[in-house]
Amino acid sequence: MGALQADVVVVAGGASGLAAAISAAQAGSSVIVFEKGSTTGGAGNMGMGPFGVESRLQRLKQIGPDRDQAFRMFMDYTHWRVDARLVRAHIDKAATTIDWLESLGVEFVEPATYFPGGQRTWHLVKPATGVPGPMASGTMMKILTDKAKELGVKILLQTPVAKIVKRGDRVTGVIAEDRSGEPVEAQAGAVIVATGGFGDNPEMIKKYTGFDWGKDLFSFRIPGVVGDGIRMAWEAGAAPTEMTMEMIYGMPGEVNPALHMVFHQPHLLVNLQGERFMNEEILPNTTFAGNAITVQKDRTAFLVFDETIKRHMQTVGFDDISVVFPFMMVDDLDALIAQAQGGGYKDVFVADSLDDLAAQTGIDPAGLARTVVDYNRYCAQGYDEVFNKKHHLLRPVDAPRYYAARLLPGAYGSLGGIKINYRTEVLDKQWNTIFGLYAAGTDACSIYGDSYVFILPGNTMGFAINTGRIAGENASEFVRSVT
Ligand SMILES: Cc1cc2nc3c(=O)[nH]c(=O)nc-3n(C[C@H](O)[C@H](O)[C@H](O)COP(=O)(O)OP(=O)(O)OC[C@H]3O[C@@H](n4cnc5c(N)ncnc54)[C@H](O)[C@@H]3O)c2cc1C
Repeated sequence: MGALQADVVVVAGGASGLAAAISAAQAGSSVIVFEKGSTTGGAGNMGMGPFGVESRLQRLKQIGPDRDQAFRMFMDYTHWRVDARLVRAHIDKAATTIDWLESLGVEFVEPATYFPGGQRTWHLVKPATGVPGPMASGTMMKILTDKAKELGVKILLQTPVAKIVKRGDRVTGVIAEDRSGEPVEAQAGAVIVATGGFGDNPEMIKKYTGFDWGKDLFSFRIPGVVGDGIRMAWEAGAAPTEMTMEMIYGMPGEVNPALHMVFHQPHLLVNLQGERFMNEEILPNTTFAGNAITVQKDRTAFLVFDETIKRHMQTVGFDDISVVFPFMMVDDLDALIAQAQGGGYKDVFVADSLDDLAAQTGIDPAGLARTVVDYNRYCAQGYDEVFNKKHHLLRPVDAPRYYAARLLPGAYGSLGGIKINYRTEVLDKQWNTIFGLYAAGTDACSIYGDSYVFILPGNTMGFAINTGRIAGENASEFVRSVT
């Protein structure tokens, strides 16, 4: 095959790549998208929706924050340790992104927050079924893919890009590999890298974040998201950024969503020493809870409750209702646990005594016994002397049988890798732009510092779409300016 040619080449057709491709096409550029997978969408197929401020839906219901308030919240949260101009560009773009997505045919339900106290910036995609839930955003990825094609974007599936081509100080195209392993060259005025990070690459996770996937980290792994774009951009001279994981927590491995919700309720949370280490009412903030578990011995925690609390969850219901898995209560927990254990699941435990629970889980028995005595006293007096947990959540743990599950750090994926500026231009180690090279989405998402800004939910998918749009527009403008 002779060399392909386009004004703009987009490396990957995930959330940021599709947004970039459409924006560039809308700006009048010819666009080719090279996608490694057999479908488009990437991790963008997995979630519920992106961040937005000042959207039509928010204005209709007078839901804040506005862009200035959101920016201030963001920067206070990150202590200004991140690129404020890039954050501002992302938030300013977010003020039009939801309306832009609606103009392309995406439908949303009313904006939501992820946990109590968070902001209602999370624009849940209305999927074909009409009911938002996990993978609803796949509907949005399908609409974006169709729209891109309608605008003349050429999407080459199962054609991973292997190299960014440079002539002198200018990026001039890419070399990809077709389905039969043959090289495919494309010449372009600008290249946008958008390969979604390194969440499916345990070696990179270990090297850049210190986590051991499968041992002390059970993060989502989107097949093929192995850091290609970051590696290629670095080879083309890009400066690196801080690299982290988008922390959450959970029971390791595959579990029934109802069981998952049982063990996210704010009961008694202990570490391997049997000690409490956080106010359990914060458990719905999965970033904070993930952080707190990460700094415990073996990055391990256990959620513990007794028979009375189990009955409470089966009759009265859950304290925390999740937007993702909106179970109000559990019907038959014993059956759920038996099903999990019957399938060989090893991280949920049932015991007739606290000593037995300690023996099964590896929790220090003396520590657990001490903690339970103290905790039961706090419950009796209605005041938690250690963390001031809300008194209505203080329920004693004193009625056998006892139940526990192991909780370990998790993550939606990786964050960061390629240094960009607020125009999404890739910068080299001297912080000069590399002509013709742009990056968007997770590959370039280093705006959270040490903790994902989950108070403004929908943020990573929002960053992907916002930076995708910015990259598409600026790459088009760049190509026009040099030809
Ligand atoms: C379970 C789950 C739920 C989530 N829910 C939400 C949510 O509700 N809201 C939110 O804000 N965020 C959510 N996220 C995060 C969000 O999906 C991501 O931040 C977003 O998809 C990142 O976009 P991206 O374009 O950077 O990467 P992706 O969307 O992952 O796209 C990357 C693409 O790059 C392709 N690729 C990789 N290497 C190459 C190569 N060499 N050549 C060509 N193509 C390549 C991949 O195949 C993939 O299609 C969720 C993530 C997960 C896992």
